[in-house]
Amino acid sequence: MERQSGWKRKARDEIERIFAFCEGYKRFLDLAKTEREAVRCVETALKEAGFSPDPASGKVYRLNRGKEAIAWRPGTHPASEGVRLIMAHIDAPRLDLKQNPLYEDVDLALLRTHYYGGIKKYHWVAMPLAIHGVIIKEDGTCVEVRIGEDEADPVFAIDDLLPHLSRKHQDEKKVADAIEGEKLTILFGSLPLLGEEQAPVKKHVLKLLKDVYGVTEDDFISAEIEIVPAFKARDVGLDRSMMGAYGQDDRASAYPLLRALCDMEDPTHGVLAIFVDKEEIGSEGNTSAKSRFVEMFLYDVLGASGAAATDGRIHGLDGLDDLVRRALFASKAISADVNGAVNPNWQDVHEKQNACYLGGGVCVTKFTGHGGKVGANDAHAEYVAEIRRLFNKEGIIWQTGELGKIDEGGGGTVAKYLAEYGMDIIDVGVPLLAMHSPFEISNKLDIYETYRAFKAFLAS
Ligand code: MN
Ligand code: MN
Repeated sequence: MERQSGWKRKARDEIERIFAFCEGYKRFLDLAKTEREAVRCVETALKEAGFSPDPASGKVYRLNRGKEAIAWRPGTHPASEGVRLIMAHIDAPRLDLKQNPLYEDVDLALLRTHYYGGIKKYHWVAMPLAIHGVIIKEDGTCVEVRIGEDEADPVFAIDDLLPHLSRKHQDEKKVADAIEGEKLTILFGSLPLLGEEQAPVKKHVLKLLKDVYGVTEDDFISAEIEIVPAFKARDVGLDRSMMGAYGQDDRASAYPLLRALCDMEDPTHGVLAIFVDKEEIGSEGNTSAKSRFVEMFLYDVLGASGAAATDGRIHGLDGLDDLVRRALFASKAISADVNGAVNPNWQDVHEKQNACYLGGGVCVTKFTGHGGKVGANDAHAEYVAEIRRLFNKEGIIWQTGELGKIDEGGGGTVAKYLAEYGMDIIDVGVPLLAMHSPFEISNKLDIYETYRAFKAFLAS
């Protein structure tokens, strides 16, 4: 297979369309830095596109604990013939505050964190950070916190050791050991509360929290506060063809999916778009791909539409249970997630004949996993052929991609959890550079082709 930059196939007017599409993507990246914020953005867009929480309303959506969203568009074909389903995740690697985070030392107020997902700890020191999240008070009241995004806001930071003194504690160690998890503490304040002898700086920040947010130190116990980079999504490169931002794994799938779902014409098969949480920590928990949310939702939507009776007359189904089971088994799905593009400086971690490239278009990944495809969903050749036929018919610029050389490492996605229902599923998504770093790099062409690919798939 001959490989070339996707940009060579784009005329001037198309390049303008791609750039315009990515302005919306960058706004999404800035507004949706946490899973809760992403769900809120998804809900706003769905409402604007005529979706409603009422299961009998046709275009339906539902939220799960503010951290997962699912949306449905009915097709003209019966649901028992299967639906078109795309799942993307909306959590991203970050630092979470511990439940008892605040302390004072050397006249500074500091916050202890516990990292979430696969980060390189040395990425998180010496740069501006923002605080996003919720504090749930004992009476159930929710206090929202979002500090560091507005130009007038303060930001936060994690101190690093100066090179003059880092020889023994950092320079001679392995990179992975240079910053310990317990040293990822947030600088939170330095002004003492006048007249206080014991921990006056801590007391002062607690007073500020009380005055502004009405919360006490104990309220951190039932809080979810996430520390994320404070900077915004930016164009990268003199030609503005790339973008750098936090959280593109996996908003690079979530945004194209959201737009494809809202922009498409009425579909032939029923359509499900799912935005899940907790992928970065193994899809555990009741807002993850392993929750039964999709099943519960289908029961309600198909139940409300009376599909069990109408489908039953065509296919001889035995009630709603049978319909939901058959609909899921007969479905075709995409696990929408990013892949690692060939890194210009570290080309030898890739097997370049089978790797994906920045600007090469949307990436189709037949299998993931590690150490001999262990833990992978390996899509069947028949299904890969279907996807290939569809994308070629629609003129979508696409490539295949395997994550790294054999035994170099590996990764997993949500594909295998949906495969448990019996549906066909394959990984499709955007190639990224600097994945899981605070400033992940994507190519505008790849984002746009992913949107086109998702739209074509949902309509198929
Ligand atoms: Mn991912
Ligand atoms: Mn990831």
